[in-house]
Amino acid sequence: MKVNENYLKLEKNYLFIRIAEKIKEFQAQNPDKKIIRMGIGDVTQPLAPVVVEAMKKAADELAVKETFRGYEDSGAGYDFLRNAVSEYYKSFGADVPASDIRINDGAKSDCGNLVDIFDDSNIILITDPAYPVYVDSNLMNGRKIVYADSNEENGFCAMPSSDGYELDGKKVFPDIIYLCSPNNPTGAVYSKAQLAEWIAYAKAHDAVILFDAAYEAFIKDDNLPRSIYQLEGAKEVAIEMCSLSKTAGFTGVRCGYTVVPSELKTIASDGTEVSLAQLWNRREGSKFNGVSYPVQRAAEAVFTPEGQKQVRESILYYQENARVIAETLTELKIPFTGGINSPYIWFKCPFGLDSWSFFDKMLHEIAVVGTPGAGFGKNGVNWFRLTAFGDKDATREAMQRLKDWVK
Ligand code: PLP
Repeated sequence: MKVNENYLKLEKNYLFIRIAEKIKEFQAQNPDKKIIRMGIGDVTQPLAPVVVEAMKKAADELAVKETFRGYEDSGAGYDFLRNAVSEYYKSFGADVPASDIRINDGAKSDCGNLVDIFDDSNIILITDPAYPVYVDSNLMNGRKIVYADSNEENGFCAMPSSDGYELDGKKVFPDIIYLCSPNNPTGAVYSKAQLAEWIAYAKAHDAVILFDAAYEAFIKDDNLPRSIYQLEGAKEVAIEMCSLSKTAGFTGVRCGYTVVPSELKTIASDGTEVSLAQLWNRREGSKFNGVSYPVQRAAEAVFTPEGQKQVRESILYYQENARVIAETLTELKIPFTGGINSPYIWFKCPFGLDSWSFFDKMLHEIAVVGTPGAGFGKNGVNWFRLTAFGDKDATREAMQRLKDWVK
């Protein structure tokens, strides 16, 4: 027996363990201090009432012989939900047929699973800093990764390099490109013109874009794209992953969707044309039996007019937190991205500190916790992530502490 030794090369998942240890130690030494946590990526508002009703009703149906459901035929998601997602896409100008959509148990699974349909020799491009799942799921298969720098100069929106990327002393062009907008951790959002550039680049280099739109619901500005399919030509080059986790508080319920357009094709080594959707459906058909019926009914409820109204309330709650954080940083003249069209705020550590030193200082001096940018890549070493997913009063208090301290 031999293990997949690529796993041995993965970085240990130190970030959140290290943060938890530091908090524990501080709290033990300062039992009277109230720590405010602004580092968590989980939501805190409860599910919308229509969602809970739909889930309960579906559970009741399962208790009756006539309406009981077992395996779902295709495992791709019930038509009622795929159609609802397709209509949702239409509402912001993206034409995505239900047949191109597969329902899943959250975006993380497909982020990791999609790589199964691509050869291990592909070169991967990941913007740095990034959601760590993109890096790990490729390193697990031994794929080579190049990084595109997202930094202060480009507003944390890395753009494609026409010269290619340095890999093992050579210039290479990527085959698979990960983009995330609104971005975790930076909160930066690509404009339509910027995405059009990436689409053209992918076309020119016969690459595929894996577009993570998990935070699309936080975009307020109608001029910013919520889906890559709002752009012409995207269907020939892009797969999109989305999730109800942050849109509708489904982090514990688990439901998301992935779009692999029927237009997305490539040529196999024997010269035949291959549809990526067919490969993906084949992969899923063998390894995934679908999402539970009550969860799919709950997800369907999110897309009803009443559901949209109710989930908007939670989004507005988080957006208000983000606004308070952004306002504080503006007042303190601390450079930041995000916060307006995103639940994440990414700011430059004051006092010229690196992100871990700033973490320690902020914890010890004002008992506020965030996430050191170094945990997301090399371009995060002097940056820090705060999230808007916390309690409203706690967020305000944390920002008051930050103001009094930095001033
Ligand atoms: N993509 C990004 C960028 C994320 O930040 C997350 C979660 O934090 C996910 C995907 C996965 O979300 P889920 O699996 O809950 O749908």
